[in-house]
Amino acid sequence: MKTELSAQLFTQAKALIPGGVHSPVRACRSVGCDPLFVSKASGCTITDVDGNTFLDFVGSWGPMILGHAHPEVLDAIRQTALDGTSFGASSPLEVELATQVCAAVPSIDMVRFVSSGTEATMSAIRLARGYTGRKVVVKFDGCYHGHADSFLVKAGSGVITLGIPGSPGVPDDIVRNTLSIPYNDVAVLEQTLRDPSLDVACVIVEPVAGNMGVVAPKPGFLRVLRELTRELDIVLIFDEVITGFRLAPGGAQEHFGILPDLTCLGKIIGGGLPVGAYGGRREIMSMVAPEGPVYQAGTLSGNPLAMAAGLATLRVVRRPGFYEELNEKSAWFGAELEKIAARSSVPTTLNRVGSMMTCFFAADPVVDYASALRADAARYGQHYRQMLAGGIWLAPSQFEAAFVSAAHSRQHLQQALDLAELSFKKLMD
Ligand SMILES: *Cc1c(COP(=O)(O)O)cnc(C)c1O
Repeated sequence: MKTELSAQLFTQAKALIPGGVHSPVRACRSVGCDPLFVSKASGCTITDVDGNTFLDFVGSWGPMILGHAHPEVLDAIRQTALDGTSFGASSPLEVELATQVCAAVPSIDMVRFVSSGTEATMSAIRLARGYTGRKVVVKFDGCYHGHADSFLVKAGSGVITLGIPGSPGVPDDIVRNTLSIPYNDVAVLEQTLRDPSLDVACVIVEPVAGNMGVVAPKPGFLRVLRELTRELDIVLIFDEVITGFRLAPGGAQEHFGILPDLTCLGKIIGGGLPVGAYGGRREIMSMVAPEGPVYQAGTLSGNPLAMAAGLATLRVVRRPGFYEELNEKSAWFGAELEKIAARSSVPTTLNRVGSMMTCFFAADPVVDYASALRADAARYGQHYRQMLAGGIWLAPSQFEAAFVSAAHSRQHLQQALDLAELSFKKLMD
């Protein structure tokens, strides 16, 4: 594989940008590679500056559920751009996307658009604290909620991959108000929430974890979480930045039939442009400025291009049969991958919910952060390099999801399976 131009760009980038990248996992360190620089992407393929084309299972880390450069999304962006790219004022597209989001996501009565998932989660906990007048945020080990100070405690993929516990620069005073407990452990959850010495404002959870690799909630986990938070008047926040419009139009809350008080969205609702959103019960959302006293603002919030790209994406996913087809294709792909792994006798555990999945190089079930960390990340690195050399673009970390998009045909998926079979054989040599 020719990589001269990527290598040259990486050298330039390292002198100008910390680590040569604008987001840490992109540096590909944990899989022992240097990053490839992308020049373009279309459908389920991505092409680097040296002209190598790969089948893409990263999907920009989740947004590209339709695949790249979908014609309807591009048309919407192009048409909207002709009328200007930012107004710093209200525009009809915001109302249209808000209508779509409130109609699709069962627990959202009102929504506020921001420019990233990080802003959405950060604003949601501010709101929960403002609403309850309490301080403590409970999160789960291995869940990632963006890079705001309060969340950088056992924070999933990027942080796991770098092997650092939290982050310097985050004051103890802030982290003291964040409690991180094991995912899928109802006993610890109940004990924590009922602890009278704690002043819990909210619990934030990825209803399907995607940032320690994919980990599904155990049956009953989300229901118990909902019942306890309701009983104790604690705000329950679902971080559906990945799962929103990924598992179903109404996200994981529709999929599992459990409704939170607040929901964070991002990724898919921006159709590949920078966006985030938080929304929920009218009573709580009415506390947001200027209707209420909890301040939150944004120069580019509700950006017309992002709204247009999001609207075009939602229009496509709302067509009849979209999720049935995507989830069915993904189920077939996951099942075939499991068969291949079984034939090769490489110990693996495949976790899949809908079109998001992770093949852990672990013999035992992966149900939380501790069991995810038992996966063989070095073996993943070897698998990653073998797949890349064969034309498959996977996430450069064991602790990430692979995403199937609407643009992946059965032939594309079969191509990935054939290569995985070869790669697993080499892993056993
Ligand atoms: C990606 C992600 C975020 C952060 O979104 P950004 O747009 O990267 O700031 C938050 N929560 C979850 C679950 C995510 O996957």
